[in-house]
Amino acid sequence: MRKPKLRELGEAIRALIKGPYTTKFPFKPAEICPEFKGFPEFQEEGCVLCGGCAQLCPTHTIKVFDKPEEGKRVMFRDYGNCMVCGQCQLYCLTGEGIVMTNEFDKTTFDKSVIHEEIEDELVFCESCGAIITSKKHMNWIADRLGELAYANPTFFVWKGYEMGLADKDSGKNHPGLWREDAMRILCADCRRNLVYKEDWEG
Ligand code: SF4
Ligand code: SF4
Repeated sequence: MRKPKLRELGEAIRALIKGPYTTKFPFKPAEICPEFKGFPEFQEEGCVLCGGCAQLCPTHTIKVFDKPEEGKRVMFRDYGNCMVCGQCQLYCLTGEGIVMTNEFDKTTFDKSVIHEEIEDELVFCESCGAIITSKKHMNWIADRLGELAYANPTFFVWKGYEMGLADKDSGKNHPGLWREDAMRILCADCRRNLVYKEDWEG
């Protein structure tokens, strides 16, 4: 049998006195340095469901589904695919919707631990019915614009709805675009057609 070298003998004695070098993880939580980059975590109050992070996520960990029939936008995050690149936090529209944590252990048989889902109401174009964005996103843009929001007819009407000053039921009941549609919530295409093409009917 090969005799242990002095160094190995020294390490064995040290391990007997001071304990092993390796940690007890996963039986005991691992000690992690504060700078360690782990999985991202969604901050529901800071996320406006703009979908920007879903577009740039390289592994499609984050996905956005619009359900117009239910009037909802749903965001899914399945961390089983996440490669912890941090792009979602770096480019988050609000800077508060997603943060990288130092949580690294998502090993589980319970899928709900690695699967998150949040939802918000959708905002539709009042002329063609196209999806514009989520309600939270509209409010976030309007808040960022401040008083300037009132210079934009779509946001002017939107703020009126939100403050209860405009009747949401006074909906459009004619085809095409009419002059009165200028004061409705319009998608970019309808607004452009209305303003530049003067495509008014009636
Ligand atoms: S850290 Fe990277 S891979 Fe993970 S969710 Fe964010 S963008 Fe996607
Ligand atoms: S607010 Fe940030 S976290 Fe929320 S969908 Fe937009 S980019 Fe993603």
